[in-house]
Amino acid sequence: MVVSLNHAHNTTIEEIPSAYQTALAQYDRAVSRLDLDENVVEFMRWPRREFTVNFPVRRDDGRIEMFTGYRVHHSTIMGPSKGGVRYSLNVTLDEVRALAMWMTWKCSLVNLPYGGAKGGVLVDPKTLSMREKEGLTRRYTAELIPLISPQMDIPAPDMGTGPQEMAWMMDTYSMTVGYSVPAIVTGKPINIGGSQGRAEATGRGVIICMIEALKRRGIIDESNITIAIQGFGNVGSHAAAYAQELGFKVVAVSDIDGGIYNANGLDIPAVQKYMAQNRTLAGFPGADTVTNAELLTLPCDVLIPAAMEGQITEHNAPHLRTKMIVEGANGPTTTEADDIINDRGILLVPDILANAGGVTVSYFEWVQGMQEFFWDIEEVFRNLERILIRSYDGTAQMMEKHGVDMRTAAQMTAIQRVADALQTRGFYP
Ligand code: GLU
Repeated sequence: MVVSLNHAHNTTIEEIPSAYQTALAQYDRAVSRLDLDENVVEFMRWPRREFTVNFPVRRDDGRIEMFTGYRVHHSTIMGPSKGGVRYSLNVTLDEVRALAMWMTWKCSLVNLPYGGAKGGVLVDPKTLSMREKEGLTRRYTAELIPLISPQMDIPAPDMGTGPQEMAWMMDTYSMTVGYSVPAIVTGKPINIGGSQGRAEATGRGVIICMIEALKRRGIIDESNITIAIQGFGNVGSHAAAYAQELGFKVVAVSDIDGGIYNANGLDIPAVQKYMAQNRTLAGFPGADTVTNAELLTLPCDVLIPAAMEGQITEHNAPHLRTKMIVEGANGPTTTEADDIINDRGILLVPDILANAGGVTVSYFEWVQGMQEFFWDIEEVFRNLERILIRSYDGTAQMMEKHGVDMRTAAQMTAIQRVADALQTRGFYP
């Protein structure tokens, strides 16, 4: 008997599907190719818990302002739930749900002992002073205390958050329980128990997956490969820097306000310096200005969407001029766009594999925190590469065995593993 609940899964119907609609469409597609028990299929569609908090923050002018935040635990079958916290004006419960589900499949695909979670606060962090941001982060963390612990749910950075927010989260949790608990969050600054290599890990992992894909297509000459990257945050900027370090040509990058393009290649360290000084890419010398939409359809060998979900849609997918897409962001491609991309023979390395480097090094950070024994950067990067290549290989085998696209293969691999564990554990009571 399939369990049925009496409220709809999908909250909004818009021209661009919501992130959760995309996540469910991907899920349905993957499970249709697997021979799973229908109860297991229904169970895994649902987030285990969804938590909404409304909380006050004192602004610098003395006013109290109310903010809304979420934390969703999609699955705890494989272990504690794991996933980032996002500060953005696009945060909705629907989005956080989708991102939590993707974390479950991502952790499963790369074989980490975690389920998936995600959190978010509806705020533009650029409108907060440091003091306000600290207040918001500490109060949001205090609201999450019943839901988080190193054994239950471990937050990390995501869009709009970074090491400083993780430090405040760690401190707030530690002050509440009365002793320091570094393993409560990952992505912390190194001086309070963060891991070597965590900051670079997601971007580096994207490039590791890209190289694996290129090698399997027999392409080996880095200097001939052009890469366009949408997004220049933690994922995009580290991916760009590592790609250039290895000899690839990064021809375009963008931030929220737009991008820059030079067909002969950009000097990424110079772009990073410009970005740090000006807080925008606009006006970077020696490059043409492009919009974020234009960046996606520039001619390139590899396109790396590393900004946010829903960027590659049925509207722009027919116009892409790339041979390969490596998803640095979570959910950047809609299901309709997936179909067009597959029909056009463009290889798409899916998010749950391509950007899994971040949570993989988060796992190393958590292990180091629990053991209070720290690794050097070589060990971190060696293990990161080993895990990603092994996962790539498993996904490629699934693709071949079932004759499916790479996203479906990755989701099938991940879902099968969680389904097996769920069946072994059984339904409670
Ligand atoms: N927010 C990142 C992601 O989407 C990292 C999550 C983590 O390290 O737990 O994968």
